Amino acid sequence: MLTHSFESKNMSNYLFSKTAYIKGVQCDKQLYLYKYHYKLQDPLSPETLAKFKGGHDFEDAYREKYFPFAVDIEKIAKSRNDYQALTQKALQKQVSDIFEATFVYQEVLVMNDVLTRSSGKWEIQEIKNSTELKQTHIQDIALQYFVTKGALGQDLDAKLVLNDEAGTYKIIDVTIEVKALQANIAATIEHFKNVLEQDSIPQISVGNQCEDPYKCSFWGYCHR
Ligand code: SF4
Repeated sequence: MLTHSFESKNMSNYLFSKTAYIKGVQCDKQLYLYKYHYKLQDPLSPETLAKFKGGHDFEDAYREKYFPFAVDIEKIAKSRNDYQALTQKALQKQVSDIFEATFVYQEVLVMNDVLTRSSGKWEIQEIKNSTELKQTHIQDIALQYFVTKGALGQDLDAKLVLNDEAGTYKIIDVTIEVKALQANIAATIEHFKNVLEQDSIPQISVGNQCEDPYKCSFWGYCHR
C-alpha cells in the first residue's frame, strides 16, 4: 500500500500507474493532472495521513502473520527503478511469496501487495483496511490482475484481504468478478492513453464526481 507517486519518475517503460488509473476512473481530468501537474494536488490532511498509517499497519500485520519469509521488493530496492528487475530476479529464483511484486504491461505499472504461488498457480492479494467490500476494491485488483496476468503470461487467482474487526482477516476470492471486468479494463486503458495524449488539461466541470468515491486530490485546484 504505497502512498508515494510513481508518476513521471525514472521508471520510464510505463505511461501510468495503478494509482493514476484509479484516479482516471473517477475523472479524466484527475488522471491528466496527476500525470502532468502532480504538484497541484491538495496537501494531505492529518486525517488522511492517519488513514494511510492505519492501512500500512494493517498490511504489515497481515503480511508478517501469513508470509514471514516473503521477499519484500520495497525493502531490498535501492530505488524505485529497481522494482521490476528485482521482481524478475525473485521469480527466476522460484521465490513463492513476494511483496510489492512489480509489473508493467501495456504501459501500465502495478505493484501487488502480495504475489504468492500455491500448487503451481500464482495468486495476487490486495490488502485493504476496510470492513466492507467496495466496488473500488474490485476495480483496483482487476487492474492488477490484467497487468500481472499479461506480464506473467499465465492465469492467476485474485483475493481481497479485508478487516473483520475481530483481529483476524476476511479473505475473499474475487477471481470471477475480476475476470468479468477484463474487457472493460483493456478499453479503459486505451481511453486513458488517448486522454494523456492531449495537449491540454481536459475541460471537465466540477460535479458529483469530485467527491465520489473519494474526495479528489485536485479538489482545491478545480474549486478555486
Ligand atoms: S476536482 Fe472534480 S473536476 Fe477537478 S479533477 Fe477532481 S474530480 Fe475532476
